[in-house]
Amino acid sequence: MKIFNKFDLKTTIIISLFPFISILGIPIYVYNYGIVWQEPALLFLGWILSGLGITVGYHRYFSHKSFRANQFFEWIFMIFGTMAIQKSILQWCSNHRQHHKKLDTDKDPYSIKKGFFHAHVGWILENKSFPIEGVSDLKKKKAVIFQDRYYWPLTLVISFVLPILIGFTYGRPIGAFLWGAIFRITLVHHFTWFINSLCHFVGTKQYNFNISARDSWYMALFTFGEGYHNFHHTFEWDYRNGIRWYDFDPSKWVVKFLSYFKITYDLKVVSDTNIFKAKLKSLQQRIEFATKKYSVSETYIDTLNEYIKKSFQQLEILETIEKKYRNFNVSTLNEIDRKKINFKKKFHTREIQNAISSVMMMLVNVKALN
Ligand SMILES: [Zn+2]
Ligand SMILES: [Zn+2]
Repeated sequence: MKIFNKFDLKTTIIISLFPFISILGIPIYVYNYGIVWQEPALLFLGWILSGLGITVGYHRYFSHKSFRANQFFEWIFMIFGTMAIQKSILQWCSNHRQHHKKLDTDKDPYSIKKGFFHAHVGWILENKSFPIEGVSDLKKKKAVIFQDRYYWPLTLVISFVLPILIGFTYGRPIGAFLWGAIFRITLVHHFTWFINSLCHFVGTKQYNFNISARDSWYMALFTFGEGYHNFHHTFEWDYRNGIRWYDFDPSKWVVKFLSYFKITYDLKVVSDTNIFKAKLKSLQQRIEFATKKYSVSETYIDTLNEYIKKSFQQLEILETIEKKYRNFNVSTLNEIDRKKINFKKKFHTREIQNAISSVMMMLVNVKALN
């Protein structure tokens, strides 16, 4: 049968066993032996460490180099990432860089265009191997090479032997295995994979309307901040995914926190003007899409485009101001000049923000009227 040729039986069984044992095994175990506090603690602590191992380590650091870090960080986050059982850093980053480069095409390893299931887990289960390419920079790192060489023994020890040993300390090795290994791995597997499936399926497209990646605050809650996926695909080298200070992005907070101890440094951040530029371009794409899909009067389209045009002009003024003062020591300016510059910047920023809100409202109307 075709389906048996398409999927690798061994991988499919192993990947399915984690949720299967979690759903069946834990209720049976709890029914017979109850719960002790160490078990949910092992689950959550393990989930947080392995989750951050993927988002901070594998993703934002190793794949995207969105900040720099010392060797201590590389070894620690290599260990945390290994706990997630999502293959080696070299394989993961090779696939992920390809996902960004070839997004929404046939060459994207987990393209959402091939369906939700494929993007979520189907691509892992398929009888197909992915070449390791475009990661020569990572092959120079000792922690990465060590992990690649000892991947399976390391995985076995950290993800299975260690929780069982911890379980022995309080007399419940099976409970520790179920909560700290099986259930914990199920969570970290599927919530990471939701970034490839749901984050390309639900949410908004503020920064690039023409790609499948989407932003949503609720996905960020379960993915250590990776829910702001449209922003991420637009500016993959920014160490943040949620850019407003209150956006739930624990990965960004961890990187920032570690920077106070010089463990991480050179945190890359996209400028406000470039963010505005992306937002305006995305709106232009939305206008184009709406005018093709719905019947919109020409005067309405003209008004929309006029807003965009004026915003780009405001943006240019803003960029000129920033360029002029970028290499200028602001502290040498007198108080009045500094206030004047800030007032100007705020004024143009507000103008752009207002125009964006107006265009958004008008676009909602287009949809509602059709
Ligand atoms: Zn993606
Ligand atoms: Zn990425």
